[in-house]
Amino acid sequence: MTALRIGIVGYGNLGRGVEIAVSLQEDMELVGVFTRRAPSTVSAAHEQTIVRSMDALETMQDEVDVLVLCGGSKTDLPEQTPLLAEHFTVVDSFDTHARIPEHFARVDAAANAAGTTALISTGWDPGLFSINRVYGEAILATGSTYTFWGRGLSQGHSDALRRLDGVADAVQYTIPSQEAIARVRAGDRPELSTREKHTRECFVALEDGADADAVREEIVTMPHYFEPFETSVTFLSAEELARDHQGMPHGGFVIRAGESSPGTTQTIEYRLQEDSNPEFTASVLVAYARAAGRLAAAGEHGAKTPFDVAPGLLSPKSPEQLRADDL
Ligand code: NDP
Repeated sequence: MTALRIGIVGYGNLGRGVEIAVSLQEDMELVGVFTRRAPSTVSAAHEQTIVRSMDALETMQDEVDVLVLCGGSKTDLPEQTPLLAEHFTVVDSFDTHARIPEHFARVDAAANAAGTTALISTGWDPGLFSINRVYGEAILATGSTYTFWGRGLSQGHSDALRRLDGVADAVQYTIPSQEAIARVRAGDRPELSTREKHTRECFVALEDGADADAVREEIVTMPHYFEPFETSVTFLSAEELARDHQGMPHGGFVIRAGESSPGTTQTIEYRLQEDSNPEFTASVLVAYARAAGRLAAAGEHGAKTPFDVAPGLLSPKSPEQLRADDL
């Protein structure tokens, strides 16, 4: 078996996760990391990982089978995915839901023109959660679909807290409402408001002399971010914050509650519980890199999403092995 040769583009949280995930796959090898920064300033976690500049990719088309793109969705991927799809099979985790159709169209044009395969918006949401929403809606034609996130660290909301005057450091966790989940699981099919679905927990270290009451008030009334939610604020020292809130946990639930005939309730539930959001997302990307390599080898070009990938393509097992072991 020839190993699938993987290149990592961008070395942040996700890039580090992909480095680990590739090392756990027996049918893959890591060609290296490609970064926009000076390679000498980026030290990879694994000693043997080679860090190169993005320019090096220009002459490496024959040395890489799939590039796993680990840039941010806001500005990196809209630029990098179509550009790199002109020369490589690529996988990304583009997660700005409202802009996926636009991203797909741009990547599809580039990949079709070049005859490459570009698998976009893999990960868990979008990604595994999206697939489970589709399964639920296709199988239970009458019903309601619910997505709950958390308990998880929200990077965007944590950043919003850190920008407030008087805040030295902070993190924010999104918590799904157990009461709302229980109602959905019971088959009630409730209409849930934003406030009913999730609560927000803030852990804040204040700067010396900051007014705790004023900071709390500013947080709970912050439009869009915290005002629409039940929000709790806990103050703690910078040392406690650093000691107890280092991880990046996340996860959630997709639930389809429906009826197959009047009064016959059917419920489908899919749950993720992640100690590390980037390491989990990276593991998903790496499985999709295997599928992208196979689609490319089969001549299936253009942009694809997780909806276009048959589950067997994700697995290192052969179709025969899968039929014997997992059906
Ligand atoms: P980071 O901010 O850690 O990294 C993004 C990019 O920034 C890197 O690729 C890197 O590019 C650059 N970078 C990283 N660290 C530094 C640094 N110290 N100084 C300067 N530049 C740096 O983002 P994440 O890895 O946490 O997340 C990437 C994306 O993953 C998110 O934007 C999100 O869209 C997506 N995601 C998707 C999920 C899904 O389920 N679909 C779930 C979770 C995340 P370079 O090396 O070229 O400088």
